Formats: sequence, structure tokens, C-alpha cells
Amino acid sequence: MYSVIEKRNILELKDFYGLMAETREVRRGVVQRMWDGAAADPESIDSLRNALASLESIPMENGSRTLLLEGRPVAADLGYEIGELQKDIHFLAHGEDALMALLAAIHPDFESQVERAMEIVAGRVYNVFATDRDGTVNNYCARYRTSVQSAYNALLLARFAKRKTRTSVVLTSAPLAEPGILDISVTPDGTMVYAASKGRECVDLRGVRHHLPIDSAERRTLDELNARLDGLLKKPAYRKFALIGSGLQFKFGQTTVARQDIANSVDREESYAMLRTVQRLVREIDPEGARLVIEDTGLDIEMMLTVDDAEGGLKDFDKGDGVAAVASQLDLDLSQGPQLVCGDTHSDVPMLLRVAEQCPDTRAVFVTRDKALAAKVAKARAKSVVVEEPDALVAALGRAAGAD
Ligand SMILES: [Mg+2]
Repeated sequence: MYSVIEKRNILELKDFYGLMAETREVRRGVVQRMWDGAAADPESIDSLRNALASLESIPMENGSRTLLLEGRPVAADLGYEIGELQKDIHFLAHGEDALMALLAAIHPDFESQVERAMEIVAGRVYNVFATDRDGTVNNYCARYRTSVQSAYNALLLARFAKRKTRTSVVLTSAPLAEPGILDISVTPDGTMVYAASKGRECVDLRGVRHHLPIDSAERRTLDELNARLDGLLKKPAYRKFALIGSGLQFKFGQTTVARQDIANSVDREESYAMLRTVQRLVREIDPEGARLVIEDTGLDIEMMLTVDDAEGGLKDFDKGDGVAAVASQLDLDLSQGPQLVCGDTHSDVPMLLRVAEQCPDTRAVFVTRDKALAAKVAKARAKSVVVEEPDALVAALGRAAGAD
């Protein structure tokens, strides 16, 4: 029943992905056992130590780790994966106080950041706690699929959710699953609502999925597109596009496929050929261009369902609409305070504004060094504070929920 990770040599990008997926299973297991009152088991700690040693043995070239993608070396920033494994091992082996000491050693002014956040969050039970994930309650990772949540992070957030909130919602722009937020999260069952695709789809505390209504003809178009892209990326010549950058993501009402990543892992010509292949595929499914729009960011190809403007438009759907959609699907009363909203970018501000508009008793913590964003947050009708590190916010939430 315990997954065990052995130390191994990681050379290929896909093996690195495989190893990180295994750390997710180990972390999920140990988190659930600790949540149920047991101590961290030595097998899990050893497994994470072996995973860390495997990552640390990946060869370095010019200051960054090098992995192989179909025989070609690609530079990979593994700062998140290595750093979070180190913190988890320290936490599981030595406990929460030792973790806090480690975080204070890593981040300048850590304690003062935690205290600032505590002043806002502590001492109340929130009706709804709505938070962004990446950069807010989770440190940033270079790739989505390997941004596996740490065990310490999951336990601190779950404790806050259980003791200090009626409903806690993690609201992200990433998809729900396959791959999505559910594949990289390790929080105990029944503690957090996960809302994905900016809130257009969610999984409630009982594990039931909800989503906004979508026209059946549009659904069929997107299903066909997703099946064709999935088939394409299973062919050896295209497999690499599932392994770089954003990979292949099936969001609600939108599909994303990478054609390049920030390290330019894919040959330029091959990347353009991928774009043309996808454009051709979309034209075959939707010859009139009536149902699907394509946007090319240079790294990712985004394919979205076109939406009748009269209905509000999916493209303009923001996290304010998302939090309202989740609230209506799960019967949450946004007007009844107190409420807590956390974020780290401008795209999280609509979520704060929407909640604050409905409830005067709203508080906010934003994680940012961006002065313009901090000013926007300060202007919202909410008592708020800004900190610099996701770890400081997570530590404050854990402490606000009391020590274990
Ligand atoms: Mg974020």
C-alpha cells in the first residue's frame, strides 16, 4: 500500500516526470496518514530522500540541469522540485518548528511577513476562503505537471481550511485533471474545493464535479479536437510536445498544446510545423471557423470555443466570474462574511473585487513585489496586506489555525 521510491539515474525528461508523479503518490499517502493522526512514516521519508538524491544527480551544464528529450539535451530549472523536496524531508523528519526555522533561513524577513499576514487572517472563522494556487499558496514551478504540492504545504492549508473556514476554494486557471490541479495536489480528502479553468469547473468536498453549462454541439467539437490532439501526441514524432512547457491541457471550453518552451527545446522549424499541423487539424474539425478560435503565443497554441457575446463570452471570463460561478454551483453565500481572498497577480484582483462587492467584511492577503498590484489591492474595499513569499502566507494560515 505504500509507494516506495528507489534512487535512480534520471536522464530523460519523461523519467523526471515519472519520478515527480511518484512523489505525488508518496506525499498524498503520508499527508492522509498524518491528517488521520499518525506520525510520518520512515518509508515515505526515505522515498522522498531517494527522489531528491535522484534529482540532485542529474548532470549540471552551465548552471542548469540537463535532461534528454528524444536524444537532444534540454536545460531544465529544477529549483522548485528540489527545494520543495528538501523542505518536505526536513518537515517530515524533524517537525513543524524545524520547518519554520528552515523557511526563516531561506527567506529574508520571513517572520515579519508571517506576522503581517497573521494580523489579517488570524482570530476568525471565514465563511469562504478563496485563493489562487501558483505563486500564492504554492511556490512557482517552471513546469505545471511537476509542480507537485508539498506535504507540509498540504497539511498547513488543510488545517486552516478545516478549523478556520466553512469552505475553502483553490481557484486556478489551470485545468482540473489529466493533467491538471487534481493530479498535483496532495491535500487530504474533503478539505478543499478545487476550482479550475478560472472557476468554470470544480470538484466539491465530496469529490463531485460541477461545471458551467456548455452547448452539446460545442462539447462534441471540443471532444473531437481533444481526441485528435491526444492521438497526434501519441505518435512518436509528436510525443515531445506533451513533455515540454504547458504540454497538452484539456481545460473547460479550451485546449492548450505546447509547440515550444522557454528553453527553446524544440527545433524552430519543427515548432512551426507543429503549429501548421494543429491549424490543419482544427480546420478539418471546424471548416467554417464557426466554433473554434486559435491563438498562438509562440510557445503555446490555445484553441477556444467561440462564444456568443450576448452570453458574456468565455474569453472574457475572469476569476471574479469564476468565484461567482463556484459559489452558485456549490450554494456558497458570498454576501455572508467574513471572507478571505488570496492571490498573487492582476488576474486575481477580479476575484477579490467580486467578493468584496458582495460582502463588506472581506479580508485579503496578496503575495507580490509588484507595487502597482499592491496599490490595486489596497484600493479594494477589503482589509488587506501584502507579503513577498507564498511560504509566509502558508505559514501564517497554518499558525492561525493553531499548532498541532
Ligand atoms: Mg498565481
